[in-house]
Amino acid sequence: MNLHFNQSLAANYKSEPQKIRVLSEDWVANQSYCPNCDAEPLAEFTNNKPVADFYCANCNEQYELKSKQAKLSNIINDGAYDTMIERISSDNNPNFFFLTYSQEYSVNNFLIIPKHFFKPDMIVKRKPLLVSAKRAGWVGCNIDLRQVPESGKVFLVKNQQVIPRDNVTEQFQKTLFLRQ
Ligand SMILES: [Zn+2]
Repeated sequence: MNLHFNQSLAANYKSEPQKIRVLSEDWVANQSYCPNCDAEPLAEFTNNKPVADFYCANCNEQYELKSKQAKLSNIINDGAYDTMIERISSDNNPNFFFLTYSQEYSVNNFLIIPKHFFKPDMIVKRKPLLVSAKRAGWVGCNIDLRQVPESGKVFLVKNQQVIPRDNVTEQFQKTLFLRQ
């Protein structure tokens, strides 16, 4: 597993969020594997499919990717509140990958939180945007990871160390009984 983003892809993107989206998705598609069954590579859904970003063609698990620079924190700033609640309450809710990367565009942490650890009360409403904002009234959310037990945080990369794949799949599968 190479921890560096392929920066040659970045040239075409001026906006930083767009660039990060492309680089981090490319990294997952090329360097990652399915934490449930160890199959690789993960397949990408076509763009703008609201369900998830990746799926495993072998076991059909679905994965959504959240990336951010800097340290891994317990509060993750995310998109629209209603969309998120709808998504995690649906029958085909995805597992969530969280990726943090350094200023040098290399992966610091990459973990999977299996979907059965996501509960609506972990999704915290932010204040609506002010009337003066472009999207006035829009309500975003924060994901509060403090409610996820350690067993629900399965690291594939931790502090730039790649975790052996056997450990990852074992930890992922250990809590699958919670889905019943
Ligand atoms: Zn799989």
